[in-house]
Amino acid sequence: MITLPESIRVFERGWLSSNNVLLVDDACAALVDTGYATHAPQTLALVRQALGARPLDLIVNTHLHSDHCGGNALLQATWPCRTVIPASEAGAVQEWDETRLTFRATGQTCERFTLTGTIAPGARLRLGALDWDVLGAPGHDPHSLMLYCADERILISADALWENGFGVIFPELEGESGFAEEQAVLEAIARLDVRLVIPGHGAPFTNVEQALERAFSRVAWLRADPARNAKNALKVLIVFKLLEVRVMGFDTLLRMLDDASVMRAAASMLKPRDEWPALLKAIVEELAARNGPLEVDGARIVARAA
Ligand SMILES: [Zn+2]
Repeated sequence: MITLPESIRVFERGWLSSNNVLLVDDACAALVDTGYATHAPQTLALVRQALGARPLDLIVNTHLHSDHCGGNALLQATWPCRTVIPASEAGAVQEWDETRLTFRATGQTCERFTLTGTIAPGARLRLGALDWDVLGAPGHDPHSLMLYCADERILISADALWENGFGVIFPELEGESGFAEEQAVLEAIARLDVRLVIPGHGAPFTNVEQALERAFSRVAWLRADPARNAKNALKVLIVFKLLEVRVMGFDTLLRMLDDASVMRAAASMLKPRDEWPALLKAIVEELAARNGPLEVDGARIVARAA
């Protein structure tokens, strides 16, 4: 049984939406990460149910992947809440610069939102009557942050550490360094005193040492052959898209590879352009095997009902 301080509630979500962490004290009701755009009404309902008549005062985003900030716009439209994001993303959000923000590059969507402030590594936040240190967590995303509460030994790890792995190392798909950063972040976590991790996806967990061990060996495995990271990225992005739209033709998916630069980069690491139809077919078939998340129905791909 995992016990959280009374001031913290975790809404564990599915694949499409990240977890949301609600931290409430007398001064402030804050939500860390807000899920995916298509789930925004669900996120709002969860927060509203937990807060009752009380408004949400603050949104904190660990990073700006669409599954972590897709509820921002609706929450902002509902309550006049402040919103703080990683400082290095402030310009991109202010200008809503779609080439710097990752939504289009990953074939995903996010409704435009605004920010009122920023946080960066070294900052401190008071959330849920607890002090949280803001830590940098590049690797999965160069701008990503984590929150660490030394008093309670709790880490809100976003996609830098899950119970079983971590998020796709996106920078490596575009020729940037990411494996070394992920390794360093894991080492930094190992140096902290952590009893409980609240990950971006999946249930909170206390077997931190085991999770770190798995994560370290996964970094080594990906590093040994970066095509593994590219293939994983394609799988993750394809499943994500199918969970969003439920049904898609192979031809539409193939067009997505051309349009979404991150998917294109991943596919290019694996096969030359003229072999992408076969590549997609093989990947989708893998995702459909053994009762996986997808099904193949002729020329269409269908998300298996959860
Ligand atoms: Zn992410």
